[in-house]
Formats: sequence, structure tokens, C-alpha cells
Amino acid sequence: MASDFHTHICHPGKMELVNGGKGSAPLWSLPFHPWETLQMPDVESEELELCTALGEIGFDKFRGALPYPHEQLELFRQFLALADKFNKPVVVHAVGSSEHLLKCAGEFPKLRFLIHGFSKHNPLLLQELLKQRFFVSLHPSLVQEEKIRSFLKNSPRCRVGLETDNDEALVIEELYAQMDIPGFEDSADSHFREFLRI
Ligand SMILES: [Zn+2]
Repeated sequence: MASDFHTHICHPGKMELVNGGKGSAPLWSLPFHPWETLQMPDVESEELELCTALGEIGFDKFRGALPYPHEQLELFRQFLALADKFNKPVVVHAVGSSEHLLKCAGEFPKLRFLIHGFSKHNPLLLQELLKQRFFVSLHPSLVQEEKIRSFLKNSPRCRVGLETDNDEALVIEELYAQMDIPGFEDSADSHFREFLRI
């Protein structure tokens, strides 16, 4: 079904998790993006119960509303604690040290994490994240990246999927078709469901 792991645009009838899509999409995440979020907002518990996931949340060393790393990571931890309390998976925007990411995730062993927009041409880092129980959604620019493709060809059933993010020109079915790896789309569908427990 060509699952779109993270999009900002609602495409009716598709299997997708819509960032901020409350009221318009069946599966939606509640975003507190590190570019914009200065502090823990007052969030209604009803909203936290209704959402499918929390995110984007995370950190960004180039463009955070708060200084990186300490203040951003402190706020990130507060959102992780909130997700943990309401038993919601999290969609993570992580630009910065993967050490920070691994450390924060280690503090919340029950949480399910999706690293969205993975854009590094680095199959070893991808492999390391997968080993650490993360789900990973690839940036569209990696669909034709040879090193990542050959890694996925050898392990087509790992916890990896694709996303259109906020690009209106992208069509998720076309991204899976361009990837063209036998079994990959079916595997992504089942990991999408596993991540969201749907
Ligand atoms: Zn996004």
C-alpha cells in the first residue's frame, strides 16, 4: 500500500501519518518542532489520547528555537516523557549528534521511535540505528542512492520506510517504485503498522 511514514500533506485514501493532521487524517501526529518550540506547551490530555503519535519532536543543531544541545535536549526529553506517559510512538527530527539521540532513546526503553528524513549516505549509521530498535524513514533524495540501496537489497525486511515530508510534488507510490527493491514496500507497510500499532 506504499505507506508514507511522514507527510505534512493529507492525501485521502493513502496509508500515511500526517504531521499535524488532526481533523483531516485518520492517522496523525501532534507536532512540537524544535525549530519553533521554546517550552513545554499546555497540551490537553484529550489531544494526547487522540493523536496517533507525537512529533515531529527532536533537536537541530543548525536551526533550533532553543540553544543546542542542552536546552533542546532537555525539552526533547520532556516530550519523550509525555509520549511515554500516553503510550504514543514518536516521530523524531534529529539533526546533530547521533550520540545524543541514542542516549535520550536509552532513557525511554518502551518508546517506539521513528527517525524521519534520514539523509546520510551512510549505510553503517543506518544499520546502527536499526540495531538500536529505531524505525527509520528515508529522505526522498536517498531513493536512488547506491550505497543505501545496496544495503536495503541485502536486508529488505529491516525497519525502513519512505516519506514525502512536505513536498507536494512527491508521490509516495513513485518513490517506492523508484527504489525498486523486491519485498521492500511490503516490509515497509508492515513496519508502518508495527510502529503505530494499527
Ligand atoms: Zn516533516
